[in-house]
Amino acid sequence: MSVDLELDRRTLDFRAEVRAWLAENVPDKPLDSFDTAAGFEQHREWEARLADARLSVVAWPEEFGGRDASLLEWVIFEEEYYAARAPGRVNQNGIFMLAPTLFTHGTPEQQRRILPKMARSDQVWAQAWSEPDAGSDIASLRSTATRTDDGWLLSGQKTWSSRATFADAAFGLFRSDPDSERHRGLTYLMFDLRADGVRVRPIPQLDGETGFAEIFLDDVFVPDSDVIGEPGDGWRVAMTTANNERGLSLRSPGRFLAAANRLLDLWQREGDPADTALAERVADAWIDARAYQLYTFETVTRLAEGGELGPESSVNKLFWSTLDLDLHETALDVLGPEAELRGDWLDGWLFSLAGPIYGGTDQVQRNTIAERLLGLPRGPR
Ligand SMILES: Cc1cc2nc3c(=O)[nH]c(=O)nc-3n(C[C@H](O)[C@H](O)[C@H](O)COP(=O)(O)OP(=O)(O)OC[C@H]3O[C@@H](n4cnc5c(N)ncnc54)[C@H](O)[C@@H]3O)c2cc1C
Repeated sequence: MSVDLELDRRTLDFRAEVRAWLAENVPDKPLDSFDTAAGFEQHREWEARLADARLSVVAWPEEFGGRDASLLEWVIFEEEYYAARAPGRVNQNGIFMLAPTLFTHGTPEQQRRILPKMARSDQVWAQAWSEPDAGSDIASLRSTATRTDDGWLLSGQKTWSSRATFADAAFGLFRSDPDSERHRGLTYLMFDLRADGVRVRPIPQLDGETGFAEIFLDDVFVPDSDVIGEPGDGWRVAMTTANNERGLSLRSPGRFLAAANRLLDLWQREGDPADTALAERVADAWIDARAYQLYTFETVTRLAEGGELGPESSVNKLFWSTLDLDLHETALDVLGPEAELRGDWLDGWLFSLAGPIYGGTDQVQRNTIAERLLGLPRGPR
């Protein structure tokens, strides 16, 4: 497939508009962490400002708050967004994971009801997938959805749900057929985090922030209208979410390009030119970030021509999680002992340690690549 790397006039104009808006509007002082109560609300307000400028969900249709931008324009938007060091996206699990799932499997009614509120972050979403005994092996989940009049009763426990402490609603998988096993008999449902029967318990982290949470569900009523896809077909729906989490949308190249450029800048200002080994690591990190950008252009071209995100999203996930870790470790080595005083790089490094875990661990991505892309025999389970 050939990829045209020349940006056309429309894309260049769009980039100029985004760049100018961000230069004018990105707060000088970083917002508080969105894993704190105050920071969460600051980020929600920021999202409303982005939405007013129709920049919160550029690639969505206009009727839901977007501007029908192409996927390429979205990639460009992301590059500008990260280069401007704009605030993290508090509704990322909604915008980048639930929304693509609703575009593919949701009803028109669900799309009309949910997407415009998501675009403004009037409703912020959490992902409620992991359970205490079902992480990598999500098909072993035990939370249940039991049929009742006009809907379902949800029971069970979810965990490691990012920002669930402050979010409004969540999406997750539940076993709706008690006689089913593994991937069969699962249903994909949305639920209100403040509904009767829901208890959200924050998991305090070492830094004291409490965005992470466990969610306990005790006969929580969910109407039929909050099932995504068909009851019992949840696994297929979940693969759309997972492919977006691992693949294109949650981790666009802009994030790594911006960090790689900052690393280059750091090296030029503070690096020891005699340390050629470290210089090579800086160069490698920059080259990898650029390679990920070019690979993404190829993916975007393929999708624009009608292709789908499939198991190759595991290659993406493995590449960006490794790149992020290498890049931040290199920055800390450039800084030497001073690294501990440099919160910007230290925080980024701490978060990069989680990259090989969330969204499916790197080991699990390697299994997928081996079995589904390379056709190697299935390993023991
Ligand atoms: C920062 C962060 C944010 C998160 N946010 C969310 C969220 O919002 N919502 C949510 O639902 N979850 C979230 N999670 C949870 C995350 O999805 C799980 O931690 C992840 O899927 C791994 O599951 P686990 O922790 O149960 O580990 P386990 O599945 O118990 O794995 C333990 C170890 O065994 C390895 N392993 C397991 N199975 C295999 C196998 N078949 N082959 C080879 N190795 C294997 C794993 O790679 C890992 O090293 C988040 C996690 C982190 C770190």
